[in-house]
Amino acid sequence: MEYWETFINSFSSYGNYIWNEITFKTEHWYINYFWMLTAFSLLVWGLEVIFPWRKNQSLFRKDFWLDAGYMYFNFYIFNLIIFVAFSETTKSIVGDIIPGGFDSMILYDTKQLPYGWQLIIFFVSLDFIQWFTHRMLHRFDFLWRFHKVHHSVEEMGFAAHLRYHWMENVVYSPMKYIIMMIIGNFNPQDAFIVYYVSIAIGHLNHANINLSYGPLKYILNNPKMHIWHHAHDLPQSRRYGVNFGISLSIWDYLFGTAYIPKDGRDIKLGFDGLVKFPKRFLSQIMYPFYKTKE
Ligand SMILES: [Zn+2]
Ligand SMILES: [Zn+2]
Repeated sequence: MEYWETFINSFSSYGNYIWNEITFKTEHWYINYFWMLTAFSLLVWGLEVIFPWRKNQSLFRKDFWLDAGYMYFNFYIFNLIIFVAFSETTKSIVGDIIPGGFDSMILYDTKQLPYGWQLIIFFVSLDFIQWFTHRMLHRFDFLWRFHKVHHSVEEMGFAAHLRYHWMENVVYSPMKYIIMMIIGNFNPQDAFIVYYVSIAIGHLNHANINLSYGPLKYILNNPKMHIWHHAHDLPQSRRYGVNFGISLSIWDYLFGTAYIPKDGRDIKLGFDGLVKFPKRFLSQIMYPFYKTKE
């Protein structure tokens, strides 16, 4: 009952929180995920207009509006799970189960470090655990069914970044939570820079821009690398995917999953059987729950 109350309270304060963002009533103007997401999207879209990689790709490419819908839907769900309901409810459950409460789980409290280092450690460890989780999404069939939504993109553009099944949040969240336990309870309100950086990099990774950041490509994920993650045709030895990086590319170089055989500007994207994959939002959302065998 107590947990339920915590959950419900989180939910109603979440409604206010989102509304305050939309109506510019946040305490600090820069901690406003809704408008920052919108601003980054317009910015990267602008770059696609000025510096297009595939010059004949329409500005409103295939599934532009579908992806725009996904973007705000997933933004809403993402915040709901990560920042409010999930953390508060879990925290009280964990606090009750573990003697000494949540804080006793922390292996190394990064709060002792300068703020800049706290952010970097948080960003890098979060990115690693997401890289690992992403690999699992490709490796196990029951996870791949959800992740296929992201791989149903046929023409890349910034908004494809947030085309994914909401269940992915449920898969990623506990992993992220483990990080918070190991390095200390980082207040999500403090993590807004990390969140903005990952939104910006993620948008760029999917953007129709000819960009790879020069030598920094070995550290940062980029459009020329991520397009191969979406490649339809991969060698048999790489059938479980390549270039799993979220914000950083370094994990793929370290663990041998980096793969950029040639310029990927015009490669075919998607997976086998994509023609039969549902095309609309609701049917894509329902697909993994219903469809049993290929
Ligand atoms: Zn993937
Ligand atoms: Zn992608």
